[in-house]
Amino acid sequence: MSNSDDFKKATREMTRDHNQRLVLKHIYNKGPISRAQLARLTGLTRSTVSTVVLRLLKKKLVHETGTSRVSVGKPATLLEFNAESSLIISLDLASTAFKGYLYNLRGEMKECVELGTEHQRGQAAIQGVLSLVNSLKQNWKILGVGIGTPGVVEPHNGTVIRSTDLGWENVALKRLVEERFHIPTHIANDSQAAALAQYVFGCRKQIDNLILLKMGRGVGAGMIINGKMFFGDAFGAGEIGHVVVDENGEQCECGQWGCLETVVGVKSLKRQLEKMCKTEMKDFNLKAFCQSGHVIDLVQLLDKGQPCLNRAIEKGAHALGSVLALLIGTLNIGYVFLAGEMIQLGDYFLDPLKQRTIDCSMPILMDKINIQVSKLIPNLVDLGAVALVLQQELGLV
Ligand SMILES: [Zn+2]
Repeated sequence: MSNSDDFKKATREMTRDHNQRLVLKHIYNKGPISRAQLARLTGLTRSTVSTVVLRLLKKKLVHETGTSRVSVGKPATLLEFNAESSLIISLDLASTAFKGYLYNLRGEMKECVELGTEHQRGQAAIQGVLSLVNSLKQNWKILGVGIGTPGVVEPHNGTVIRSTDLGWENVALKRLVEERFHIPTHIANDSQAAALAQYVFGCRKQIDNLILLKMGRGVGAGMIINGKMFFGDAFGAGEIGHVVVDENGEQCECGQWGCLETVVGVKSLKRQLEKMCKTEMKDFNLKAFCQSGHVIDLVQLLDKGQPCLNRAIEKGAHALGSVLALLIGTLNIGYVFLAGEMIQLGDYFLDPLKQRTIDCSMPILMDKINIQVSKLIPNLVDLGAVALVLQQELGLV
């Protein structure tokens, strides 16, 4: 075959894929819908729409569902997206224990499994990922695997460049999962995945730009700019947890001193409180939190009043508020969604965080900033991984 024939074939295939994604997207968003309506909305001819629909019916991605009511002529057959045609495996590696989920193609959860904490670093963490995928795939037809992980991720080849939390450096996670299971796999940083979930499932794509601030074991931000995930040139956009905020601060797991994560987040809080237990809070019962690491165990103590516990929480909120104000000042993004386990501290944490952000920001910018807690908690990361698979494999969302 000549180069020119190759080129024509490639162009035909690209056009076919493009048309299929276009038609499927309209059925996904607007169905039940007729072939005639699809032709009108997509600008494709009726015969092209019919050919594409036939292919989608064969793949079971759509099905026919009744007919439309018309005043004259033959009623049109309606088409609907088949959310159960296959399932998506979605992994959240950012929570205290690794979590794995099965979702249908509308982002509805079917199953959830959890791994113990022993799987969470180095080679053991990789084995944990593989064992989660293995236990979830069973005999289902799987469209793809989506994974949200802490750390800097190269999204195109799915390599985790560095994750301090998981003790990973240059782990080719996408390749490892695909070689083992032969299922298309897509990887994203956990905060970036969470931002995508907020955009797709939370905001229904009604806004173009948003910041999602994830405050769990550590802190990170994900950004959607002009309706697209923003990765940055070295894929580390939003990695605010390792920005130095206190040159005289404690050493961070990453090796630097005084990173934001040394003063805010569940890990930092636990470390600070363990230290306080030995000195000023000797009589205070922090056993439940120190054993479980769940911040919800602190709320009762805060309700009873404990100034030094409040001080530790406020110090973290202030440091984070200053960094958030910088992000807002740099990007002027109007919607900020808050997520992560630190949210469970409620106003004890959120009030000083919001106040500090306002105090450190330009007043005319703050007038138009909407800061709110995400309603998708606690499934932001796994829903983001689902959205990633739908986007990459079917061109949806
Ligand atoms: Zn650090």
